Amino acid sequence: MKKIFTSFYGKLSLVFLLLLTALGIAQVAITYNSSMQFVRQADQKLNLDLARNMAYEFEPHLEDSLAIDSIKQSIHDMMVVNPRIEIYLLNNNGEILAYFIGPDKEIKQDSVELEPVKKFLTQDYDHLILGEDPRNPDSQKPFSAATIDIGSLGQGYIYVILGGEKYDSALSMLENSYFLRTSLQVFGIILLVTAVLGLILFAFMTKRLRKMTRIIGQFDRGNLKPRVPVQSDDEIGRLAMSFNNMADTIQENVKELKKTDKLRRELIANISHDLRSPLASIQGYVETILLKDSELDNEERKKYLEIILKNTSMLRELVKELFELSKLDTKQVDPNFEPFSIADLVQDIALKFEQKAEQKNANIKVEAPSSLPLVVADIALIERALSNLIENAIQYTPEGGSVEVELNPNEEHIFISVKDNGSGIEEEDLPHIFDRFYRAEKSRSKSDGGTGLGLAIAKKILELHNQEIHAKNRPDSGAIFYFKLPIQ
Ligand code: ADP
Repeated sequence: MKKIFTSFYGKLSLVFLLLLTALGIAQVAITYNSSMQFVRQADQKLNLDLARNMAYEFEPHLEDSLAIDSIKQSIHDMMVVNPRIEIYLLNNNGEILAYFIGPDKEIKQDSVELEPVKKFLTQDYDHLILGEDPRNPDSQKPFSAATIDIGSLGQGYIYVILGGEKYDSALSMLENSYFLRTSLQVFGIILLVTAVLGLILFAFMTKRLRKMTRIIGQFDRGNLKPRVPVQSDDEIGRLAMSFNNMADTIQENVKELKKTDKLRRELIANISHDLRSPLASIQGYVETILLKDSELDNEERKKYLEIILKNTSMLRELVKELFELSKLDTKQVDPNFEPFSIADLVQDIALKFEQKAEQKNANIKVEAPSSLPLVVADIALIERALSNLIENAIQYTPEGGSVEVELNPNEEHIFISVKDNGSGIEEEDLPHIFDRFYRAEKSRSKSDGGTGLGLAIAKKILELHNQEIHAKNRPDSGAIFYFKLPIQ
């Protein structure tokens, strides 16, 4: 039961029923008052001449004194015809000289306010005039009045209260008025029907809310799949739509978090693996040198030491790149944007890798228009990204191959591409090569392979410049990596 009233439906229904009750009470009050007014006015209008007729009848008995007894009989006859009237004889000041109100009744005041009486006598009757009821000083009643000659006492008034106790209580009014009774009954039925229809309508309207709550409850308990059906374009429909959008976003984020978590675990596994292999190799060769020191000739010892050196360089490179990537990841690197000549930078990098290219009989070509505008970027970071791309291009190009760096400007950017004529990248690897530790060759122990971090670093650097880096295969042979930088 308590649950009903704490539910939205319960509260809505309660407010609705309270409003209906208030409406009912207001309607009863209005109907009662207007009926009362109507009946009283009709009564007064019907009895406009009642007092005057009585005056004609009584006047002969009032020549010299108040011949009460002699008029009692005729009053008695009148009250038999109309038992609800109460008759008062007033002097000029409104004081009650005599009264005829029926047995067992008594008056509570001995005078009557004359103002309404005079009004009644002077104006053409057009609306209800109420006067004092000496038996009931708190209530005003319809009356009939007329002037009367009371012998030596001069002119007085005959004052007739109409209806008597008829209007004293709402209950008796209700009993007496067919109109009031019927209209209240009809209104009661209308209220009842409205209440029932309203409650059914609210139940229907809140059904969608209950359904939505059920689905949100499932979502809350961890089932991210269900969505609320959107049935209309009203507030509830829009709420359902917002919930669905929110649920999509949450589901997307959870998926993303799971992916990141998986990546993080893979990253740790990869780092451990990449650290373990060179360390194991170093340990192995150091132990061999120590154990077989006397048996080793100089040649062998040199060979072992060179392997140890190579592994330590790999380790150093890996740690350096990891550190670099983590700084880029955690936004500890604040790019210092400045204008510089990208053509000069590319030439410098090409010179730096010339020797490495020569070892493979490869050559590095720079293709650029003679005058290029300056680009705005962080020169050190762009040098790092370009070095990674050119180093890869040399590494993956075959003996005697060629690496080409091309610079092409348009109005806003300079497009930079690094091409080689190696074997290119497998289509299935293309979407992943910018992932950290991703190596298309798969074998992680490949001694001449890099760390698998170079392209991830290049991508991060370009992200810091709000730019993207792409890779694709050339139609003939080899891969091409390209990105753009804004010009000054
Ligand atoms: P790595 O240190 O292994 O070169 P990168 O992040 O620089 O790591 O590159 C990731 C992978 O992308 C490489 O292992 C390689 O398989 C592929 N790759 C990068 N550049 C080229 C290229 N020019 N030609 C073919 N494959 C490439």
